[in-house]
Amino acid sequence: MKLHKDTTDSIEPCKHMESMLNQTADGTASPLVKWYALSHAKGCERCGTFLARVTALVRQLRGTKPDPQVVESQESLTEDQWTSLESKWAEVEK
Ligand SMILES: [Zn+2]
Repeated sequence: MKLHKDTTDSIEPCKHMESMLNQTADGTASPLVKWYALSHAKGCERCGTFLARVTALVRQLRGTKPDPQVVESQESLTEDQWTSLESKWAEVEK
């Protein structure tokens, strides 16, 4: 049973990985946490996608807005912005 549509915004990581993935993305993770999160994300499609999104989001927020309090504003990204972030991430992964 599907509770919601499969949109690009509905990707959720494994429950136990979410905080580690967030920390890895924003650079606050310890080396061990970062290593673990990256290792997991490599083999887990949902977490890999989640990490890519959060990482891209953090980078964009830091690049364009110096105020760290705007982390909540991911909803304001347009489809085009997501697409360009995703293609950039895809290049990084190669
Ligand atoms: Zn996972």
